[in-house]
Amino acid sequence: MLRQHAEIKARYPGHLVFFRMGDFYEMFGDDAVEGARILGITLTKRPHGKNGAIPLAGVPHHQAERYLARLVAAGQRVVVCEQTEDPRHATGLVKRDVTEIITPGTVMTPGALEETQTPAIAAVAGPDANGQFGLAWAEPTSGRFAVEHCAPEELVELLSSHPASEILIAADADSRIGSLTADRSGVTRWPEWHFEPDEAARTLKSHFGTDDPNALGLDLAESPRHTRLPVGAVAAGALLGYLKETKRAPLSHITSMRPLVGRAVVAIDPQTAVNLDIIGRPHSNRPTLCDVLDRCRTAMGRRLLRERLTHPLTDREAIERRLDEVTHLVHDRGTLAKLSEATKGIFDLERFVGRLGSERIGPRDLLGLRDALSRWPTIVTLIGPTPLAYRDDPAVTETERWHQELARGLKDDPPLATTQGGIFRRGYSDELDSLYADAAEARAWIADLQSKLRSETGIPSLKVGYNKVFDYYIEVPMTHAEKVPADWIRKQTLVSAERFVTAELKEKEEIVLRTDERAAELETRLFLELRTRLVAEIALLSALARTLARIDVTASLARAALSRGYSRPTLTNDRQLTIRKGRHPVLETINPAGGFVPNDTVFSTDDGFLHILTGPNMAGKSTYLRQVGLIVLLAQIGSFVPAEAATIGLVDRIFTRVGADDDLSHNRSTFMVEMAETARILAGATAASLILFDEVGRGTSTYDGVAIAWAIAEHLAGDAAHCPRTLFATHYHELTSLADRFAAICNYQLATKEKDGRVVFLFRVRPGACDDSFGIHVARMAGVPPPVVARAHEILSALESGTFDPLRGRGAPRPKPATASAGQANLFSDDQRAAVDALAQLHPEAMTPMEALNKLDELTRRLRGTAV
Ligand code: ADP
Ligand code: MG
Repeated sequence: MLRQHAEIKARYPGHLVFFRMGDFYEMFGDDAVEGARILGITLTKRPHGKNGAIPLAGVPHHQAERYLARLVAAGQRVVVCEQTEDPRHATGLVKRDVTEIITPGTVMTPGALEETQTPAIAAVAGPDANGQFGLAWAEPTSGRFAVEHCAPEELVELLSSHPASEILIAADADSRIGSLTADRSGVTRWPEWHFEPDEAARTLKSHFGTDDPNALGLDLAESPRHTRLPVGAVAAGALLGYLKETKRAPLSHITSMRPLVGRAVVAIDPQTAVNLDIIGRPHSNRPTLCDVLDRCRTAMGRRLLRERLTHPLTDREAIERRLDEVTHLVHDRGTLAKLSEATKGIFDLERFVGRLGSERIGPRDLLGLRDALSRWPTIVTLIGPTPLAYRDDPAVTETERWHQELARGLKDDPPLATTQGGIFRRGYSDELDSLYADAAEARAWIADLQSKLRSETGIPSLKVGYNKVFDYYIEVPMTHAEKVPADWIRKQTLVSAERFVTAELKEKEEIVLRTDERAAELETRLFLELRTRLVAEIALLSALARTLARIDVTASLARAALSRGYSRPTLTNDRQLTIRKGRHPVLETINPAGGFVPNDTVFSTDDGFLHILTGPNMAGKSTYLRQVGLIVLLAQIGSFVPAEAATIGLVDRIFTRVGADDDLSHNRSTFMVEMAETARILAGATAASLILFDEVGRGTSTYDGVAIAWAIAEHLAGDAAHCPRTLFATHYHELTSLADRFAAICNYQLATKEKDGRVVFLFRVRPGACDDSFGIHVARMAGVPPPVVARAHEILSALESGTFDPLRGRGAPRPKPATASAGQANLFSDDQRAAVDALAQLHPEAMTPMEALNKLDELTRRLRGTAV
């Protein structure tokens, strides 16, 4: 058995092996040590060899999914090795085989996944002759599969807009790929032959039935003619091969490939998603935008909402269409309420399709499917004549066909396993019915047997009975033994009776006793047939899943809009941005009722495209910045926005840079990181971008910081006609003077006032720069003595006018300590000192070169002590 284990272990170096033994998955050796450490389970020993012992750790099979999740989260790759024959029927060692390999990007096990989690995996191939890389990206649970080819510098961006928990590269991958992915955990190196175009083509062909890139929907326009398979397809083939290898399944739910970037998506890099608190981060319970908006009724909706929040659209028509849908439900609350009822807790059809495609569904899943299908006609009626209905929504006739079959055929309480029977109702299959009919007939025959035999034999005390050891028997008291017919077979002799069987009873017994077993076999076959027919309906089922998710998200956005008083934004294709009484969608839910102060935002030629925002600490700068970012984001996912009114010129990207003080992930925020991000923003921003700079340049010395912030603002505003809409919150008051020199720059401040000797934050954004002596102001209110305050004002104005001289302040210069002057005296002789003084008196500009040379000669001699 350990040899069996060792063979598997040798096939998967670097993997942890989960070895099924009875009711446990066991880990051996180093795996056991590592597994026990990660899972916090007991490490034991198993005797091995002569006097030896091998470490052992195990988890109960019914809890395996939970443990698998934790191992994978800890970065492990787990090989699951099952018993592939029934131990009761096995002669010798039970056969075992690998049934699945679970890696960070390929987890599909239902119990190992959070409802809102969608693991993704990417593969990178190339470069090809043109220096292009191929990128394939997949979500194994949903079957989404996308392909792209791109230049090396785009690769990083694509990977950050489509995060993957595992990146597959060739073992001999180009060093550029290695370095691109170096800072990411979860890089898997796979033998390079999988990345050969021929091998990739074979994989694509066997899965999709073609390896013709055009038929696969791959854009060939940019790929060189002479390579047979474009590099994107190579990555796709390798990725598909890897998924099949790890899942050991046909993956029929991966039905198509599409381009990775529907090019009309606003790029939201992970850093921006974090800065804006769009969706939650692990181990953080700060409320997020998603928390505020998520009123979904289904898991599919919850995942789609997250997907939309991280991929806002740039295509106005597509956004307007979504807004029309939300608007409809906002106005028709009756339908909204009914939809809510109809969709509540619908079975996770999307995940089901994923499991169906990898042949991992059970009878209870069919119950969920039946329920989901049963709700569709009601939902169709509700959305029928509204913008929520799409032309390619699944037809009720199609879904009803399946609903009817399942409703008619499926028992209400099927077992978990596929092999135990108890799945189908009578009437589903003639074969099954006749099996049960035969059994019923046999049972009835046995039930009648006693009275029949009593009258035939004339033995009144004859009994027909059953026990587990001897099955059915006919019991005759010893006293009547001579009346027993000759053809009865003696089975057992008791003290006062004898037990017999007849050939006919044996035959009926066989029917009765084997019915369950044969029914189970037959039901297993019927289940597999049904599964095969469902696989053929994957397109229909995933369309239904998508539609349900879309309706759920739309209803969720409508509910949020209604309960929070959002309004529909007006969209334009220019650089406008006008927000009336905008609010921060998350903060307004936290602040006590009415406690949030709304603000206007206007970008225009008059109001500036780059707003320098000043104000003391805690005045609301960061909140205001994020509020504008979130309102634009909401508008572009097709949601209503927290504002009285908003006109939004669509943005192509949203950039945020949050300075050291405000960055919550402290350890990351070195100055270097800040500048790297700034560089990325300046390189990527276009006239259509929205940029939010919060305290940029704070991570270095003041002069440095001002200089950098200044130069950035100048760079962005230099061309007023193309200045990206930018909010620039800063504590560098110096920057406000930029407004005088650049048409695109305007100053805004967060207003404060003084009341009873205390600062009151008004949280109101107003034109103008804030009073730069605010700190001193606060010092005075805090009770710092008036002379100190007055002196601080003096120093501040001297600093600002550039006349500040640290040596010419108050107080007398401190007398130099005696030893120090002695040191000075030792350093220079009187003559040398005189020479230095003479040097200081010279006016080189008034000397001829010859005079200068002579003077230099004289002075050097005096200094060296070789007098003239
Ligand atoms: P700054 O960036 O200027 O230091 P913040 O934006 O971090 O200030 O805001 C500080 C606090 O002020 C926030 O945590 C919030 O509680 C409150 N605040 C900010 N903006 C508003 C507002 N518009 N209305 C009400 N409270 C606000
Ligand atoms: Mg701040």
